[in-house]
Order: sequence, then C-alpha cells, then structure tokens
Amino acid sequence: MAKYIFITGGVISSLGKGIASASIAKILESRSLKVTLMKLDPYINVDPGTMNPYQHGEVYVTEDGAETDLDLGHYERFTKASMTKFNNATTGQVYNTVISRERRGDYLGKTIQVIPHITGEIKDRIKKVAQVSQADIVLIEIGGTVGDIESLPFLEAARQFKLDAAEKNVLYIHLTLVPYIKVADEIKTKPTQHSVQTLREIGIQPDILICRTEKTLSDEVKEKISLFCNVRKEAVIESPDVASIYQIPLVFKGQILDEIILSHFGLISKPSDLKDWERNVVERLFAPKKTVQVAVVGKYIGLQDAYKSIYEALTHAAISNQVKVEVKKIDSEEIEKYGPEKLLKDLDAVLVPGGFGGRGIEGKIQAIGFARKNKIPFLGLCLGMQCAVVDFARHLCGLKDANSTEFKPKTKYPVISLLSEQKNVKDLGGTMRLGAYPCKIKPNTLAARVYQTHQISERHRHRYEFNNDFRKRLESKGMIFSGIYQKKNLVEIVELKGHPYFIAAQFHPEFKSKPDAAHPLFDHFIRAAAEKK
Ligand code: GLN
Repeated sequence: MAKYIFITGGVISSLGKGIASASIAKILESRSLKVTLMKLDPYINVDPGTMNPYQHGEVYVTEDGAETDLDLGHYERFTKASMTKFNNATTGQVYNTVISRERRGDYLGKTIQVIPHITGEIKDRIKKVAQVSQADIVLIEIGGTVGDIESLPFLEAARQFKLDAAEKNVLYIHLTLVPYIKVADEIKTKPTQHSVQTLREIGIQPDILICRTEKTLSDEVKEKISLFCNVRKEAVIESPDVASIYQIPLVFKGQILDEIILSHFGLISKPSDLKDWERNVVERLFAPKKTVQVAVVGKYIGLQDAYKSIYEALTHAAISNQVKVEVKKIDSEEIEKYGPEKLLKDLDAVLVPGGFGGRGIEGKIQAIGFARKNKIPFLGLCLGMQCAVVDFARHLCGLKDANSTEFKPKTKYPVISLLSEQKNVKDLGGTMRLGAYPCKIKPNTLAARVYQTHQISERHRHRYEFNNDFRKRLESKGMIFSGIYQKKNLVEIVELKGHPYFIAAQFHPEFKSKPDAAHPLFDHFIRAAAEKK
C-alpha cells in the first residue's frame, strides 16, 4: 500500500513548491524508499504544450512524449523517478475525461458534478500513478496557491483521499512564506496563520509546515506558528534562502524532515545517506577552479523559467568540470540590432536554445555564424540546430536564401522543412515529434567522442526537420551528420570539422541532465569553454 504526501502552497506563488517537493522526495529516496511525484495543475489547458513560454515557462518533455509542467524536470533531476504522461494532470485533462465519458453515456441517468465525479477522476489519476510506479511514497504537488478558486477541486480530492487511503497513509505538507518586515525588524507569522486557516476551512489540517524565510526562525516564532496553525513544533520546518537549489535536501535533512514523515507513516527504513549528493554536487558547485562565461542567445530571455532545464544542465556541467558558469542571457533581437561582435566577442561559449516562430531568428543565425568563424564553442538545441544548418547553407554552400519553411514558407532553399506527415496536421496540441527516439551515432565524430557510445536515445519536441534533399551538398562543404534516427533517416546531430566544439542536436539533451550526471553534450561544451579560456 503506497503512502501519499500532498504538498500545497500558501500566501504567494513562486515559493519553490516544485523544488521543495523534489527535495522531500530526494531525502526519502536516500532512505531506500521508492518515490514518485505528481503535479496537479489547475489550468484548463490540456497540457502546457500550446502555451507561450512567457505564460508558463519551459514545457518539460517526458520519455513517453508528454508535454508537462517544468516541475517534472525538478522531480527527475533530484530523484531516480521517471516521469510519464500520468505524472502531470491538469483541470483540462480531468474535465476532458469526465465529459467524454458523459457523452459516451457511461453515467447515464446521473447529474455530473464536481463532487464526486471531478474529484473522483482526480483521485483515480493519483492512484494510477501509485499503481504504475509501484512507489512506496507518492508525492502530489498541487499547483497554485491555497485560496485560489481554480485549485479547489484538487484540494477537495486531497481532503477526500484520507477516506480512500486510510488516515495514517496520507500526509499534508503546506509550504508558506514567513516574511521579514525590514522597517519593523520583525518576522511575521500572520500570512501563514491565514493560509492554514483557509486550508482548514477546506477540511485539510497540515501535518507539516515548510516556512520559506530570509531570516532564521527563532524558537519563539516556531512556537507561535505551531500554536496558531495546530502543527507540532518540530514539524515547523524552515527553508531559508540558499545559494543553490541543490542544497535544499540537506537543509531538510538537517531538520529531520525525513524522520518526521516516516514516523507519521509508521515506516521504518535505513538512515538517510546524502553523502554522495553533498560531495559530488554541493561541494563541487561551491569550489570552482575558474569561471567561464556562456552566452545563451534566445528569444525568451526575460523569463528565468523559459529555459529552466538548459540553465540547470549548464549548472550540472559546471559541477562536473568544477568551474563557475556565468550565463549571459542575450536576446537574439539585440544581436540583430547591434551585431554579434559587440555582444559575443568576450564570451567563452555560445548556446542557442529551442523556440518557435520567426521573431529573433536572424539574430540566432548571426550568433551561430560568429561562433563558427571565431572558433567559439557552440551548442545548438532544436531550433538552435536548425539555425546552424541555415547559417551553414547560406554562408558555406552558396544557398543564399536558405531558410526553414517555418519562417519563410516559399524559400528557394528549404533546408529545414516539414515531413509530409506533418503537413496535414491540423490540431496544434500534442502533434509534434515528441518524446524519446533512438539515434545512431557515426563513429569517429565529435558526437561519438562525447557520448562514448554509438546508440543513444534523446527526447524531442519539434515539428520541422532537416531536409535530406540538401544533405549531400552540405556534407560536401564540411558539415558532418553525426547522429541519425535510422528508421526514418532523419538528421539528429550536426557538427563541424576543424572547430574546437561545434555541435547541434535536433533533440533536447537538457531534459536528461542531472546534477550528479551532467549530460555529455553539456559536459563537453563547458569543458571546451574552459579550455578556450
Ligand atoms: N520551431 C522548431 C520546430 O518546430 C523548433 C522547435 C524547438 O526548438 N523545440 O521544429
């Protein structure tokens, strides 16, 4: 029988509920328990795949090709759990299922209501995750902030869960903010009290509070929170601001959060062991031997969350190379305005991430051309690869007007274009090439050296592909097609000879990088940047 932990958030959003959930899972996993996590998102979109990154942040892609919330990225980076389409449920999905069932006549004669039908579907989805994962502990993060209208059915389902799974198998954790008011030099507990009050009105009494705070909480403050919120004092956990998210499992372990959870469930397990994490991740992160500056030339630069997994993967490569990576976020439209020289000339490496739509494309292409000519280590991801192909075709193959048909449908040289099967696609949701595909690596290439194997599998999220009509021409001018999806003969990796590190992938390696196992493409990218320095 699985145990269930529901994690809710209060007071304000952006407190780091996803990272807190992943960190709790991490300390439980370090006690030899099998964990999995699930995110419940209150919005009505079926998935975030059709949302603008400025609305939602990154869309995280799972092995099985689900487009999910970026918190699933934290779950996979912190733990061994593999995420699937079952691990993220949205209001849109829940209603979609219930309404289709109603149309089929499955509920014939009945009135369909939030309780019990919607809440029932939510609970079924949680139980499904428990069943598929066979985890000892399922952590369920409820998106949004307590008090929002939208998340009410999820909270109601969480409340009801105690009736389904027996009281001792369910635990509620509430993440809140305990602000420090500078002018009064005081820490304020009132927002937390109110947030817990709201939760109790819904029928949920939290067992544990995690208090985000910039100052340490005194015993007195903890006692006050404990008394007013009806939570045992040792279960009032503080979560101070830290330099790296990877310290948070250690912060929680230091307050025996794992012990508190296990004793609630009546579980006995091995003591927690986070020594490897501490030594191989946290200590290395804070002992860099040099600094490298990496340009990320993107179009969603203004939002930290838009390239979440990429920034994390750069940090993982920093850890593995023991360097400090300073990311310079460069808006590709600025490159169009000022030219690449001005913005890139002092940097040690250039990364061009994925994206959709024509805005800023020419800036990306110019940035790649600059890295190519000046032998600056370059890593292109998805759209970044497509732009690398365009740059190469235009400037080394004499295909002046070369482009992707995404940006110029009538281009004379469509070096990136749609496969025929994509041409007839009408729906935009969930219809791209999504999820894991195998890729064969050509021997004696940079890709082979980086991966140290000839068969890999990586995750995709794109509609356009390299156009094989141009393969011979580009190859004859020195572009190497070093990774191929053989079944359909699709180009997955391109690279250049005579350059210290110029490689680009049609897939998204960033989704598989971990703090203690940097992805090889990122690892070698940062190594090349450090060597250049
Ligand atoms: N817009 C491009 C495509 O659909 C690239 C997508 C991406 O970078 N994820 O193929």
